[in-house]
Amino acid sequence: MTSSSPRYRESKEQSSEIMRQVLGLMARHDAAFNPINYAVWYEHAAGINSSLSAALEEALRTEPKVSDATLFRLHQEHLLEPDALALQEVSQQLQRVISGVQGSADRTGEQAGVYEGQLNQLVRDIRNGSPVAAQSLLKRILQGTSDMGDSARELSSEVAQCRLEIDRLSTELTRVMDEALTDPLTGILNRKGFDQKLDAMFKAPTRVGEAHCLVLLDIDLFKRVNDTYGHVMGDRVIQAVGEVLKTQLTNIASYSVARYGGEEFAVLLPHASINVATQVAELVRQRTKSVKIRDRRSNSVAVSITISGGLAAIRPGDDVKSFIERADRALYQSKMAGRDRISGY
Ligand code: GH3
Ligand code: MG
Ligand code: MG
Repeated sequence: MTSSSPRYRESKEQSSEIMRQVLGLMARHDAAFNPINYAVWYEHAAGINSSLSAALEEALRTEPKVSDATLFRLHQEHLLEPDALALQEVSQQLQRVISGVQGSADRTGEQAGVYEGQLNQLVRDIRNGSPVAAQSLLKRILQGTSDMGDSARELSSEVAQCRLEIDRLSTELTRVMDEALTDPLTGILNRKGFDQKLDAMFKAPTRVGEAHCLVLLDIDLFKRVNDTYGHVMGDRVIQAVGEVLKTQLTNIASYSVARYGGEEFAVLLPHASINVATQVAELVRQRTKSVKIRDRRSNSVAVSITISGGLAAIRPGDDVKSFIERADRALYQSKMAGRDRISGY
């Protein structure tokens, strides 16, 4: 049996062998046997993370008994996904803001406790008829009142500051999360973003006369563009198709466009119909065909391209896999029939 984790594909037997090696390695060093340190040594021993292994070997040269701090750094730099890192950063900042306010609230609370004690003492002194003691206490209480005021104002300004900071962090968090779902080259959704939207589409019930549709699009003979004009030009072509998709699909907010893979794109049209999806796909095909992409350096070459598409509408009994496969088969038909066309469902 092999593991289904995309990161760790070692079987139970392989991983138990690696575990024995890791425990031996960990025993020789100063760092604790915690899951973070284990993960670092595991990936090194399994030989599945070459940048980590190189960094670990480098570290071992200056630090023969490797410490918790070093393993933690290696874990941060070589095991965490970039978006996980950014999220961790935001969450640490939030933690700091919260502890700051907590500290201020604690100080105010302590002061209030002292103040309450003083007031109680005053009541007792007055009851016992000791006006001199009461008078001196009253002075201290006046000071206490003013301290309490300062402290409460400090707390209130700290809370206001905290609210601003939390607003900023929440914007930052939204940005990080959006970034994790965006393809950097085209600015449209990436595969992860597409998967999320597709899941949502599957969960949304359709009304009578509606169909949730998917169009898969693939640039025709794209390898030739790369081979003839180079990868930079190839990237610009991909960007240009992304632009066509963005501009053609902005009118309906529920439609989404994604870069599905290298030179493949996907359009999700929830609550549409086969007719509407065909029209949209045709429009994108036509617009793509009329785009001329100039080479910025020579400015003389203008590359034209075409795209092929495959369209599918969700049918009863479909799952994500069968649905995508149907669109993919339709795309393949378009390619077989000579490209630059949309085949359906
Ligand atoms: P077809 O019409 O059958 O789709 O032919 P094709 O040449 O487009 O298909 P093929 O799958 O053979 O080639 C796709 C090429 O796309 C191969 C790969 O190098 C290139 N490619 C994939 N992603 C990128 C990218 O991000 N940038 C660039 N420049 N090229 C990419
Ligand atoms: Mg392809
Ligand atoms: Mg292609």
